[in-house]
Amino acid sequence: MTYGDKERYSRQILFTGIGEQGQQRLLSSRVTIVGCGALGSVQAMELARAGVGHLTIIDRDYVEPSNLQRQLLFEESDAADGLPKAVAAERILRRINSGIGVRGLVEDLNPSNADDLLDGADLILDGTDNFETRYLINDFAVNCGVPWIYGAAVGSYGIEMPVMPGRTACLRCVYPEPPSGAQLTCENAGVLNTVTAIVASLQVADALRILSGAQDHLIPRITTVDVWAGAVRQTEQPAADPDCPACVRHEFVYLRGERRAPISLCGRNAVQIHNSTQPLDLAQLKIRLGAMGEVRANEFALRFFHTPFEMTIFADGRAIIKGTTDPGVARSLYARFIGN
Ligand SMILES: [Zn+2]
Repeated sequence: MTYGDKERYSRQILFTGIGEQGQQRLLSSRVTIVGCGALGSVQAMELARAGVGHLTIIDRDYVEPSNLQRQLLFEESDAADGLPKAVAAERILRRINSGIGVRGLVEDLNPSNADDLLDGADLILDGTDNFETRYLINDFAVNCGVPWIYGAAVGSYGIEMPVMPGRTACLRCVYPEPPSGAQLTCENAGVLNTVTAIVASLQVADALRILSGAQDHLIPRITTVDVWAGAVRQTEQPAADPDCPACVRHEFVYLRGERRAPISLCGRNAVQIHNSTQPLDLAQLKIRLGAMGEVRANEFALRFFHTPFEMTIFADGRAIIKGTTDPGVARSLYARFIGN
């Protein structure tokens, strides 16, 4: 560790739980954050400031004005520019800590790229908003023996749970199947920035314990918090389910893509189409769509406005179609304006 590092991280080194050895471990650790929304923003900022040496941030979405209330990494100009969150996050994190490696990936984590994108991570943090992606992370983590930390928040309520394969229960031990029926989401029930910050901080605290070498002292617990009702609860994590499809039977159906829908709802009056087969020429598309309506483009994505719809199209052929929750409508808009 350099003299500069010792000074920069002195308050963590003085903390007996971490010390110089723990800090050295953090500096050589690799963490991947999946989803850079409210949870991922706080996770990334805290890990960067704590000196975790290599951060990868995977996010499929772009910054919108409604994100700014809780997604602490982003500014008004990012929303005005419609910048992909992974790009905006990488920029600000490099300014926060130039001594670590930061990589922002504008990607939709899915079964076909999970092994590549998550490869090499010492730990994975859940910043997603859906069970399909969480089960995919869980499958990868259990299969490769990588710890990961589940977190979720909606309204004023949040939950956090570390998963250490081989030592603790996994997500599917606790939730064997995705919750059925209509779910509360940040889109329909709102969310407070205080609860997302707390959940993300609980995730990071467990991450730092695991990465700095104190994982043996980590008692696996499920923490729930309600910042409005004023309730914080910790319960011991249940033992692994002896019939768990993931960590016992090793049936990684999410990693194999057997449970994947070709179209997914983004939980915010939008549909994502990610079954494209070929990359797009955004420059050419910009000219073509410009003749039919307003187009705004940056080097990462193109936005096409066709009232009442707004389409954000990425170079890999993926598109987020805002203004509908009907996959059929989204598919026909995709076919009409982008092609097949
Ligand atoms: Zn399990």
